[in-house]
Amino acid sequence: MATAVTNEVIIDWLARFHDIVAKQRAYLTELDSAIGDADHGVNMDRGLAQVVAMLDEPADGSGVSTGALLQHIGNGLLTSLGGAAGPLYSALFLGAGAAAGERTQLDAGDLAGSLRAGLAELVRRGSAESGDKTMFDALDPAVQALQQAADDGAGLGPATAAAAAAAVAGREATAPMLARKGRASYLGERSVGHVDPGAASATMLVVALAEAAAQG
Ligand code: ADP
Ligand code: MG
Repeated sequence: MATAVTNEVIIDWLARFHDIVAKQRAYLTELDSAIGDADHGVNMDRGLAQVVAMLDEPADGSGVSTGALLQHIGNGLLTSLGGAAGPLYSALFLGAGAAAGERTQLDAGDLAGSLRAGLAELVRRGSAESGDKTMFDALDPAVQALQQAADDGAGLGPATAAAAAAAVAGREATAPMLARKGRASYLGERSVGHVDPGAASATMLVVALAEAAAQG
C-alpha cells in the first residue's frame, strides 16, 4: 500500500483510469446515447490513451514536482480529450497541480486539498452545482470523503477507498436527477432515470486512484 502519492503513483493512476475506461467504453457510450450524443466512451478512451502514451516519455514524472506532473497531465487532457468533458477534466488536473505546487509527494490530506482546488477550477470552468447531474456529483462527494478520512487520520489507502465508495454512491444518485448542465439538459424531464455518463467516468477516475494507492 502506497503511503503517499508520488509521481509513480500518479502515472499508475492514469494508466489504470485508461484501462477501466477502455474496458467500460461500451457502457459509457450506452449512458451517453441515452442522454447525450453517444461519444463519451470513445472520447475518454482515445483521449486517455494519448495522455498515457505522453506519460511513457522517459522524462515525464522523473525529477519534476507532483504539481508540475499534474499540470502536465492537465495540459495533455486539454489537447487530447474532446467533448465537454475534456476541458473539465483538464481543469481538475490543472487546479490540482497548481495547489500541489513544489511538493514531490502528497499524503492523504495534501491530496484532498489538491483535488479540492482542482474541483474548484472545474466548477469555475463549467459552473456545475450539486444535483445538476454531472461529473461534479461523483467528484464532490469523493473529495469530501477523502478530506473527512484524512481529517480522521486515515492513511492514503483507506482514504482513497472511502473516496471511491463515495463516488460510486454519487454516480448512482445522478440517475433520478434532472440534468441542468451540458447536452443532457436539453432533454429536460427525459434526462431523468439515467446515470450521467460524466459521473460514471469520474467514478472510474476515483476508483483508479484507490487502486493505484493500494499498490506499492
Ligand atoms: P459532450 O456533451 O460534448 O458530448 P462528453 O460526452 O464527453 O461531452 O461529456 C459529457 C459529460 O460532461 C456529462 O455527462 C457531464 O457529466 C459532463 N458535463 C457537461 N457539462 C458540464 C458542466 N458544465 N459541468 C460539469 N460537468 C459537465
Ligand atoms: Mg457526449
